[in-house]
Amino acid sequence: MRLRYGAKEEDFRADLVQWLEANAPTSDVLMQPKLSSAHLSDWSRKWQRTLFDAGWLVPGWPSELGGRNATPVEQMIYFEELSRREIPRSLNPQGLSIISPSIRDYGTPEQREQFLLPTLRAEVSWCLGMSEPQAGSDLASLRTRAVLDGDHFVVNGQKVWTSGAHHADWCLCFVRTDPEVPKHKGISALIVDMKTPGVEARPFAELSEPDYHDFNEVFFTDAIVPRANLLGELNGGWPITQGSLAHERAMLWIDFAYNLERATRGLVDLGDEESSTGGRIGDDPVYRDAVAQSAIDAQALMCMGYRGFSKFMAGRAAPEHSLLKLFGSESIQRSLELGLMSEGCRGLDTESRGPRMWRVGSWATQWLRSFGATIPGGTSEIQRNIIAERVLGMPRR
Ligand SMILES: Cc1cc2nc3c(=O)[nH]c(=O)nc-3n(C[C@H](O)[C@H](O)[C@H](O)COP(=O)(O)OP(=O)(O)OC[C@H]3O[C@@H](n4cnc5c(N)ncnc54)[C@H](O)[C@@H]3O)c2cc1C
Repeated sequence: MRLRYGAKEEDFRADLVQWLEANAPTSDVLMQPKLSSAHLSDWSRKWQRTLFDAGWLVPGWPSELGGRNATPVEQMIYFEELSRREIPRSLNPQGLSIISPSIRDYGTPEQREQFLLPTLRAEVSWCLGMSEPQAGSDLASLRTRAVLDGDHFVVNGQKVWTSGAHHADWCLCFVRTDPEVPKHKGISALIVDMKTPGVEARPFAELSEPDYHDFNEVFFTDAIVPRANLLGELNGGWPITQGSLAHERAMLWIDFAYNLERATRGLVDLGDEESSTGGRIGDDPVYRDAVAQSAIDAQALMCMGYRGFSKFMAGRAAPEHSLLKLFGSESIQRSLELGLMSEGCRGLDTESRGPRMWRVGSWATQWLRSFGATIPGGTSEIQRNIIAERVLGMPRR
C-alpha cells in the first residue's frame, strides 16, 4: 500500500528519496553483523552523523537540534521511506528514540549540552535501565535504591534485560529514591556513567543468535552518581518512564507493517521450493490459504495504522496503538512460524536462508527473534488488558 499526500508533502518525499539514493549505506554495509543495540560500529557512527548533519536524523525537531521542523505527515513519509528500505537511523535505537527525547524534554541546559548533541551525533551510546528481576510489566515496583548523600547519590541494586549495557557509555537508570511514598511517586531517573566503579554489566547468551549478546544483568554496588546527573525532579521519574514519544508512537507501527509485507513475500518465494513430502511447498492449499491470510493481515495492519495516524493528526484519541503493537508483533510471528514449519528440518538450521527481512537470518532465527517484539513496551497480555479496559471499557481486574 502506498498513500499519496499533498503536493508539498510529496516534494518532501522526493527530496528525501533523492538524498537517500545519494547517501544511504549500501546493502553490503547494512548486512554487517551487529554486536549489540549499543555498539556503534564505524560505519553506523558515520551514517548517523551524516543524517544529523543533513537534517535527516530527527526531521521533526528544530534545526538547532539537527532537525528541519517537519510536520507529522512529513515525518510519517520519512518513516515510510526508511522502513521500506530497511535503513536504520541509528544502531543505538534506545539512545536515539527513547533517551534523547527524554533529555530534550526533562534535561537541564547543562545536561542537554553534555548529552543531547553527542547522542544525536553518535559520539556516545546508551542503555536503558528499567526492568529488574521483580519489576518488568509492573515497573513501578522497581527496587534499585539511590540514597542522596550531599552532592551525589549512592546506588545499590540490580537491573536485568538491559540491552547493550556492556557496550553503552551511559545508562538512563530508574531508581527508588523514596521508599516511603506510593510506589510511582518515589522513582527518579539518573544518568549513570557505565565506567563508574561499582557498576558491572554482565551480558548473557541469547537463544536466537549464539554470537549476538544484547541482554545484560547490571549490578550496582555503592556506585556514586553525581546529583547533577539527576534527570528531571527528585522523585519525578515516573512521567519519564512513560516516554517523550507520544508523537512518534503514532508512526512506529510502520516497521511492523513493512516487516509483515516482507515476511509475506518470503512465504510466496518459499512456495516455489521443494516440499519434504514431494512437489512444491506452494502446492498445499492449506499453505496457500495461510499465505493469503498473511497478505491480508499486512494490509489490515497498514489500514489500521493509517487510521490511527489520521485520528492522531485530528487530535483525537487513537486506541489503535495497543491494537497495532499486539496485532503487528503477533501477525509477524505467525507468518514466520508458517515459513519455519513449511521448510521442515531445513527451517531449523539457523545458518540457512530466510525471508529478506531484518536483512539477515534464517526462518528459525527470525521466528526466535520475533518473540522479542511481543514483550518490551508492554507484553501482549498487557496490551490485551489495555484494549479490554481502555478501548472496550471492560471492568478493571
Ligand atoms: C527484546 C527486548 C529488549 C529489552 N530491552 C530492555 C532494556 O533495554 N531495558 C530494560 O529495562 N528492559 C528491557 N527489556 C525488558 C522488558 O521491558 C520486560 O521484559 C517487560 O517489561 C516484561 O517484564 P518481565 O520480563 O519482567 O515479565 P513480567 O512482567 O514478569 O511478565 C511475565 C509474564 O506475565 C504476564 N503478565 C505480567 N503482568 C500481567 C498482567 N497484569 N496481566 C496479564 N499478564 C501479565 C506477562 O505478559 C508475561 O507473559 C527488554 C525485553 C525484550 C524482550
